[in-house]
Amino acid sequence: MNTSDTTFQRRPGPTLDQMTSICFRVTRACNLRCSYCQAPPNAKQLGVSELFDALAYLARHGTRRIKFTGGEPFLYRGILLLVERCRALEMEPTIVTNGTVLPPGALECLRKNGARVKVSLHGPREVHNQLQGQVVYDSVMATIKTLIEARIETSIHTLLYRGSELDLETWVSFLASIGVHKVSFMTYVPRGRGRSFKDVWSFSEAELNKLSQDIDELAIRYRGAIIVRCLDFARKPYIVFETDGSINWQVADEGQDERLFQVAFGSKWQPSLHTDNLVNISRVSEATHILPSEVSHAADNRLL
Ligand code: SF4
Repeated sequence: MNTSDTTFQRRPGPTLDQMTSICFRVTRACNLRCSYCQAPPNAKQLGVSELFDALAYLARHGTRRIKFTGGEPFLYRGILLLVERCRALEMEPTIVTNGTVLPPGALECLRKNGARVKVSLHGPREVHNQLQGQVVYDSVMATIKTLIEARIETSIHTLLYRGSELDLETWVSFLASIGVHKVSFMTYVPRGRGRSFKDVWSFSEAELNKLSQDIDELAIRYRGAIIVRCLDFARKPYIVFETDGSINWQVADEGQDERLFQVAFGSKWQPSLHTDNLVNISRVSEATHILPSEVSHAADNRLL
């Protein structure tokens, strides 16, 4: 396929200028092997200079919030450069991490660039360790404590699945007591390795409605102490920049995903036609000033 002039057909969804917030997958490499992982390590990985290009592309097209995700984004050696670049492009950086890795210089970089951190924590020690399949709770809690003490805005995301015995109110109350800024409850979606749990973990429509209502009530009850919200990814699609440079509309069942755009590296991509149902992207050459010389050495600084 000639990627220099690519047309993707798609159903109505977000348009390029509506992508104010995007999940930006820097790597699929991870030090954990969660059985439910939505993004197992089976994809290529781009270099820092390519990801700089992608950030510049998104900034030009209206993206304002970047959620660096993985895999484990803190394992990617260029992650702090990406955080800096994100802020320099006037976008707000958030790192979504499993909480077991904090590279040297991270706290200073995160603070300086006003970056937020969202840590995966799925319940008390036994619950979290069992779900992760590894004894990591204490390490994750130590990271959370370090981040909060460093005055970095720290949120938690907690997976909810059918049969989970987590007491939501006890959990919210505990997180508020340790200074967590926000807890996002994420409903299970059958993607990646997590597909194997589809028949046992998937919520019914009625259960999702009840969960959403319960979480809304907690949000009201804990207003002022902690932000509480439901990320109903079982029903609400979201946009992800993938490690192959594509931008995708991801739905609960990954077989239904749609590729929206393809970012070309070292080049600028401009939509030449953009309607509700059709996106046509043409390649336009761009000067090399996208990548400043002072950081060009980082271009091949890949981890794995
Ligand atoms: S779910 Fe997250 S922490 Fe677990 S293996 Fe996947 S990327 Fe790593």
